[in-house]
Amino acid sequence: LPTADEVAGAWDLHPKKHPATREQREAIFNRLSFGVDYTDHMAHAVYDEGKGWHSKVIEPYGPLTLDPAAAVFHYGQEIFEGLKAYRHDDGSIWSFRPGYNAARLNASARRLAIPELPVEDFLASIVGLVRADADWVPSVPGSSLYLRPFIIATEPFLGVRSARRLDYLCIASPSGPYFVNGFQPISVWVSPDYHRAGPGGTGAAKCGGNYASSLVPKLAAHEEGFDEVCFLDAATNTNVDELGGMNVFVVYEDGSVSTPVLTGNILEGGTRGAILQILRDRGNVVREETIPLQSLIADIESGKVAEVFACGTAAVVTPIGRIAGEGFDVSVTGGDVTKSIYDQVTSIQLGHAPDPYNWTYQLSA
Ligand code: PMP
Repeated sequence: LPTADEVAGAWDLHPKKHPATREQREAIFNRLSFGVDYTDHMAHAVYDEGKGWHSKVIEPYGPLTLDPAAAVFHYGQEIFEGLKAYRHDDGSIWSFRPGYNAARLNASARRLAIPELPVEDFLASIVGLVRADADWVPSVPGSSLYLRPFIIATEPFLGVRSARRLDYLCIASPSGPYFVNGFQPISVWVSPDYHRAGPGGTGAAKCGGNYASSLVPKLAAHEEGFDEVCFLDAATNTNVDELGGMNVFVVYEDGSVSTPVLTGNILEGGTRGAILQILRDRGNVVREETIPLQSLIADIESGKVAEVFACGTAAVVTPIGRIAGEGFDVSVTGGDVTKSIYDQVTSIQLGHAPDPYNWTYQLSA
């Protein structure tokens, strides 16, 4: 990857005339949650067929004016990413595996017939935005600046085909620690009848439609008193796929670890990949395999399963303490491996541990 200094300035900066004051930022920092507040600027570029990506700027954050016929409103031609900028103790700002997010955005782009964004542009947009809004990166332990790059089809055209004009944007949102009450296990409801994606569909892409289809099952889970939904594979309705926004890992008593194999319906998480690497380097036996729900329940009941956890950018690692669905309700209490993985990943992200994998990427001094 090019360094941040190499791509800094590649996108023009159009600074906001009246950025937030220190007092305004502090007020927001004192009540940080997730996805509620936004910084002063956003990255923005336009794609036109025949011209490619152009008009690359860091501009004041604000509403977009779009034609009501813009394709994204009708056919959902949209993809997005999610990553974070972390402030280290010396004040410098870093992100975690941005090259992975750039590559995944382009993998999603290929599935949604969206033109790819060069990795250098992805990095330049993030570096430009974070440097313009560096004061917005919080330093409270556990907090970060969440970055949301996305591409929408903005061509006004109601025919169903891939758009010839699209916009790329990246917005930034200061976010607080995920675990307000410490490292709390979550409960998951296994959806008996809804799927987020099916064979040949868009499950491996990060596109809005996958999340739209997860809302009804998520509501159902909340009504039943559960925190998250666990989706089974749509082909057989028997194997564990993933949660609505996190991948799943199972830790066995013998120290081996399993995670659902990438079938094309699961979103391949950057956190998942990092954890697989860390576990292999620790010497754990690691399997990417089919995990039938029935065997998982049986192995939890027999005590063969020690821990179950979910992982993703937002929470890093979350213990799963209860899994229930039609006809079953089981609890898992162990959490030592989960906690040690959480500690190791967050230590690398925050610069508190060596990074032999070169996962951290310095955005700003
Ligand atoms: N699965 C889904 C469906 C997700 O939305 C996410 C969050 N991007 C993940 C898994 C975890 O991915 P990552 O570790 O890259 O955040």
